[in-house]
Amino acid sequence: MSRVYNFSPGPAMLPEEVLQRVQHELLDWQGRGMSVMEMSHRGNAFMSIATKSLADLRELLVIPDNYRVLFLQGGATGQFAAVPMNLLGGKSQADYVNTGIWSKKAIEEAGKYCRVNVAASAERSKFTTIPLQQDWKLEPFSAYVHYTPNETIGGVEYHWIPETGAVPLVADMSSTILSRPFDVSKYGVIYAGAQKNIGPAGLTIVIVREDLVGGEHPGTPAVFSYKTQLENDSMYNTPSSFCWYVAGLVFDWLKQKGGLARMAEINRRKADKLYKTIDDSDFYSNPVDPACRSWMNIPFTLQDAKLDAVFLQESASAGLVALKGHRSVGGMRASIYNAMPEAGVDALVGFMKDFEKRYG
Ligand SMILES: *Cc1c(COP(=O)(O)O)cnc(C)c1O
Repeated sequence: MSRVYNFSPGPAMLPEEVLQRVQHELLDWQGRGMSVMEMSHRGNAFMSIATKSLADLRELLVIPDNYRVLFLQGGATGQFAAVPMNLLGGKSQADYVNTGIWSKKAIEEAGKYCRVNVAASAERSKFTTIPLQQDWKLEPFSAYVHYTPNETIGGVEYHWIPETGAVPLVADMSSTILSRPFDVSKYGVIYAGAQKNIGPAGLTIVIVREDLVGGEHPGTPAVFSYKTQLENDSMYNTPSSFCWYVAGLVFDWLKQKGGLARMAEINRRKADKLYKTIDDSDFYSNPVDPACRSWMNIPFTLQDAKLDAVFLQESASAGLVALKGHRSVGGMRASIYNAMPEAGVDALVGFMKDFEKRYG
């Protein structure tokens, strides 16, 4: 067996220890004679998996008691619609901050349900910056403020939490949740698709402040209703049980690794190494304002785009895969979530230096 360092933005790498445990338990989970895939989600075996994973996530993120956690389906994209359906209440408007492709998609979807006030946009900088909060035009009668803490494609990340007073703050944390500790109590709703930093694709985590539940639009589909799903412990319909189980193993792994403070240290060091390699050279570049560079997704271009194909081919041969940048940005992108070992980043840095020597 030989495993590569996979820099895919998502579905992304999972910790090898987790995959091994899945393999070990695949045919017979803890003496039950069946795989988790084959279990009733209502049986006591799966209930114990669900309960433990929830408790571990609450512990890792230090989720306050007045917040509830949902394990849903539909991806972050499903939440682009679920958020306005659940949170508008009687209001007809929400504030959105536009920092790139994922914010734009959230804005577009919300526009089906309400008037969207784009409170700030980084479009003029070609999404290489984050608008300062002092320049945001928030409106007090908006139902909530939505933002994207980490733009997976552009590689821009907030290293601060917006202040929105009494208006609930909503965050699409798909590509940054669990990368470091943060204060959950600053938020109304947090959601994240699992396939970046949590587990396999097919699971969506929603963390919602209790008092925001219950005012949903009557047309809200039951599977997307926070209220209905909370009343049914995320099992109003069959949940994505196998993904939920793997996510639980990832939470367990994170706890064993020392939790999110430790992950933050490692993630910061991994990102610093890669940015330093880029900044120290004239051969590679990253267009993002250093104040808002992502720890998780690092796009970079080569001085001569004609070398892109060679770079991709040679890096893949060296066991460094999925480095091709998003078509909208071009060049390369290294996604380095929790499961990317520091040795993977070291290997990439080594490869980049060597490639520059040979072609620079
Ligand atoms: C990947 C991603 C999405 C889309 O997630 P799906 O699970 O495919 O719906 C949305 N927002 C961000 C920030 C992402 O990184």
